[in-house]
Amino acid sequence: MKDEHRERFSRKKRAGLPLIVCAPSGAGKTTLIGRLREEFPLQFSVSCTTRVPRAGEVDGRDYHFLSREEFIAQRDSGLFAEWAEVHGNFYGTPLKPLRERLACGEDMLFDIDVQGAAQLALTLPESRFVFIFPPSLKELEARLRKRGADSEESILLRLANARNEIRQSHWFDAWIINDDLDKAYDELRAFYLSSTLGPALRPDVIHSILNGV
Ligand code: 5GP
Repeated sequence: MKDEHRERFSRKKRAGLPLIVCAPSGAGKTTLIGRLREEFPLQFSVSCTTRVPRAGEVDGRDYHFLSREEFIAQRDSGLFAEWAEVHGNFYGTPLKPLRERLACGEDMLFDIDVQGAAQLALTLPESRFVFIFPPSLKELEARLRKRGADSEESILLRLANARNEIRQSHWFDAWIINDDLDKAYDELRAFYLSSTLGPALRPDVIHSILNGV
């Protein structure tokens, strides 16, 4: 994180902004989110999942990896802000850390699917939602194959889900087409910054200007 941003975001006490980023698998979301987190002090919402960890993934950092039984028990106890079944696995956002961090004024980044985003639109209406599109479905398929992380069956499932997610993206606040990574990143950071400019996130501006503090 750059020092100028640390200063800007740590000065004031305010509620945190939930920033929800959705994209079909392979659209470049992980890279874009990584760049945003390098530049700004955004806390990442670590989800729970029943998916098997991929090479390099760390429990507690990338996901909390749970058995199906554990996930269902936590879900049924109301421990998730939202949950969904994606590509045959369960995913859910733990509610407690999310509430605590937002109350402390920390902006939070969510990498979740469209079904989960629709649930957060109801439970956290102050959220801002951005959908990242691949340039085309053909390019998406090529990226998924090149990544080499998924079986053929999983690639076909992800492509079918991509079509569904794109069909459901009409209500988002912003759309970004990731055909050029730098341009897509500029748009994402502009969307995030503009989302922090409203009076609700700058509660002391009028007071400090009128009182000269
Ligand atoms: P992956 O298995 O590739 O890490 O993630 C698959 C999909 O699940 C992605 O679209 C990702 O955004 C979504 N996902 C990850 N965590 C959550 C979550 O907590 N809730 C929901 N609804 N979707 C999630």
